[in-house]
Amino acid sequence: MENIEAIKKIFNGHSKRIVITMHQLPDADAMGSSLGLATFLKKKNHQVNVISPTEYPDLLAWMPGIDEVLIWQKHHKKSIQHLKAADIICCLDFSVMHRIHKMAEIVKNASARIIVIDHHLDPENFSDLAFWNPKASSTAELIYTLIEKLEEKTLLDKNIAACLYTGIMTDTGSFKYPNTTAYTHRVVASLIDIGINAAEINRLIYDNNSLDRLQFMSFVIMHRLVVLEACKTAYFAISAADLKKFDLKTGDTEGIVNYALSLKNIVLAALIMEKEDRIKISFRSIGEFPVHTLAKAHFGGGGHKNAAGGNSDLTFEATVKKFEYLVKQN
Ligand code: 5GP
Ligand code: MN
Repeated sequence: MENIEAIKKIFNGHSKRIVITMHQLPDADAMGSSLGLATFLKKKNHQVNVISPTEYPDLLAWMPGIDEVLIWQKHHKKSIQHLKAADIICCLDFSVMHRIHKMAEIVKNASARIIVIDHHLDPENFSDLAFWNPKASSTAELIYTLIEKLEEKTLLDKNIAACLYTGIMTDTGSFKYPNTTAYTHRVVASLIDIGINAAEINRLIYDNNSLDRLQFMSFVIMHRLVVLEACKTAYFAISAADLKKFDLKTGDTEGIVNYALSLKNIVLAALIMEKEDRIKISFRSIGEFPVHTLAKAHFGGGGHKNAAGGNSDLTFEATVKKFEYLVKQN
């Protein structure tokens, strides 16, 4: 789905009020692609505001431009003003409305034209224009492609490059998942050519743990990892009481599910977590097992073939049972 000519017309036209938003609890791809696009559009003389539905992880706080991001939960009035006044709303790294949580209502009713830029499967049809490709490694890679197609690569700078590099790096698991293509590497090479410090960005993202996060990881690997060998499945089930024992910040549970997937012979991994307001499940797989289908059919979620997420209205214990039951059916 590409409406490149129409998007070009909008971005090349007179100055517009543009809001960029992303999915709740933004990860580095959601935030990196949004900030990269924001800087690019500001250089094209548009008035740009980035609004995140919720807080973002501390480990993204260094990203160029993040200080100006409005948090819907915190900067409610201002966010509403910008959304209502916007000519264009760009929705990045999500294609189903519930992923922006309570902001969905106002985005749906805004008079702005909606442009979706995303790489998730099974998009809802809420956009006026889309630049959508589920084969893209990341939304950040799509922003690079978009800038390339707009023939505006000369506008790329170190700030944009750092944001896009971070999104691509994290969504590809540091260039190791099957979504990493030769094109991905070419994009990354040209971002490095712009002069970013890739090693420093890796350190900021991966070697920036708090002691609590590290000890939490060691606790859950030791005590909360269940292996169903016959089903080639491993999962973490983490209760609210477990979470309370550690001083965790937004984003601190990110990536834990991958430890279950790193086990030999395991092709399906999950993280079931009893959060304050809901039970959140993350799914990961290796090879052909489509976790987005499992997430969509049974947990009101979605995502990609090898990485998806969903939610459960059942109790924590019943959710764990349901997950085991579904896995054993397969
Ligand atoms: P994570 O497990 O890291 O939260 O998410 C894995 C992938 O699934 C990400 O691409 C994320 O955007 C997507 N995802 C996570 N939760 C949901 C959800 O509730 N609905 C949909 N449609 N996608 C989700
Ligand atoms: Mn993404």
